[in-house]
Amino acid sequence: MQGLMMDHPLLISSIIDHAARYHGDTEIVSVNTTGGEHRTTYAQLRARALKLASALQKRGMEKSDRIATLAWNNHRHLELYFGISGSGLVCHTVNPRLHPDQLVYIMNHAQDRMLFFDKTFLPVVAAIRDRLPHTAHPVLMEAADDAVKAEHPWIEFYEDLIGEGDEDYAWPGDVDERDASSLCYTSGTTGNPKGVLYSHRSTLLHAMMSATPDVMDFSARDCLLPVVPMFHVNAWGTPYAAPLVGAKMVMPGPGLDGASLTRLFNQEKVTISAGVPTIWAGLLAHLEQAGEKLPHLTRTIVGGSACPPSMIAKFRDDYGVEVLHAWGMTEMSPLGSVNNLKNKHFELPEAEQRKIRESQGRPPFCVELGIFDDDDNQLPNDGKTQGNLYCRGPWILNEYFSGEGGSPLRKGWFPTGDVSTLDEDGFMTIRDRSKDIIKSGGEWISTVDLENLAVAHPDVAEAAVIAARHEKWDERPLLIVVPKPGRTIDEAALLGFYEDKVAKWWIPDAVKVVEQIPKGATGKILKTALRAEFGDALLSP
Ligand code: AMP
Repeated sequence: MQGLMMDHPLLISSIIDHAARYHGDTEIVSVNTTGGEHRTTYAQLRARALKLASALQKRGMEKSDRIATLAWNNHRHLELYFGISGSGLVCHTVNPRLHPDQLVYIMNHAQDRMLFFDKTFLPVVAAIRDRLPHTAHPVLMEAADDAVKAEHPWIEFYEDLIGEGDEDYAWPGDVDERDASSLCYTSGTTGNPKGVLYSHRSTLLHAMMSATPDVMDFSARDCLLPVVPMFHVNAWGTPYAAPLVGAKMVMPGPGLDGASLTRLFNQEKVTISAGVPTIWAGLLAHLEQAGEKLPHLTRTIVGGSACPPSMIAKFRDDYGVEVLHAWGMTEMSPLGSVNNLKNKHFELPEAEQRKIRESQGRPPFCVELGIFDDDDNQLPNDGKTQGNLYCRGPWILNEYFSGEGGSPLRKGWFPTGDVSTLDEDGFMTIRDRSKDIIKSGGEWISTVDLENLAVAHPDVAEAAVIAARHEKWDERPLLIVVPKPGRTIDEAALLGFYEDKVAKWWIPDAVKVVEQIPKGATGKILKTALRAEFGDALLSP
């Protein structure tokens, strides 16, 4: 029909163009991999991203080619995000915590043509580069260094490469908003990792919604420090949402311990952050031990695994920091839900408001959630009925990269593999991963609930609950704990802690005390490893 709006595509390059145009002097502070800090601005970041894009083109990279990164959260990684995707290439963020064989599998599967890496990962790149036939140019994300070059003559240097780029390069005009922009592989605890391919459009919609007040609530008045790595679902989309609103950014580099984060939070007056519960457990332990506070931080987004209610309370009561409990998946860009109250909730007593804040929250616009039985029949959103959580929307996976594994969809929905309840306001509570939930005598027991309670006990640093095989009940909960430094675990007292908090038959049958709990490449507890070790612990010998 005649007389319509302009048809401007939603492109990743438009985010950094906007940030440079209207927030050109807003700072990006970055901790270098090799020590020290680097300060830049959105205007400078855009200029260097364009030069990088030009250099990539000169090296013969063609539209939709995949370019891999193995890197921390730092300014060069940000330049790569915009330079690669902005020029129509696909930014493939690879998780350096994976086993070298998995790195090789992933980079060969993606057929990455170039690889950019931080100095931390030089040994692993040196070890695997001969097994990467598609990857012609390993580029160290540093200035030229003669000593490194002498030892590794195959290495190219990032600053040399940028130097090859043209100053007056412009973003190519043939990038469509439905073109692929970035690629991230799932952690692959079972079978080979599978690629999730995001588009410019899905990324922009996700970034625009993320910034809204009921989601991550970013603005030009904020200073954001994303702890969540840029190799884990694009740092939850924060490197797009922050420049989109012109928020200052602080990139923490490799130091994610409590002391380093506290220093950065306070030095740079960080107002908002994002990360997984294990990171925050480390930060809270440090704050308590050092007697430090976080005077500028107002809120933090916590997700990736369930945030224990005791952590939400500690942040709020001891440090004045609001936790935004969020849930999502690599397959969902990742945002699926965030916990923010509604207007009507302010009429409720404080204790009830706090209770509502504990769940994984409600879906933003662009995400639809539903719970289903095993035959794909939709179940009621009554806050009580528990079922398989499915989702659909414009930033949710349709199929895996190169069609791997066939269509995962069920009746047009993506099955998340999580089991949850959903209430009529959209508030969703994860009960478990479907493969972790305990089926005891035909009834379900939530390992998430039992873990949340265990970590509220003063002697417990970390907890995991698994389904252990049982002669009578098929499966029974087994609690595995790491004690806090200097504390010992009294099994009877710890199990007694569950009384009057859960139904009697939910209380774990036994406790195993361990020095550490195994974690996967994204910091999540590896229940498969725990089940292999302790799965028979309750059977008679
Ligand atoms: P990933 O794709 O590696 O981010 O893993 C996604 C999975 O992490 C989800 O399917 C959930 O099982 C789990 N997860 C993410 N956020 C939460 C949360 N807030 N509470 C419980 N589980 C979560």
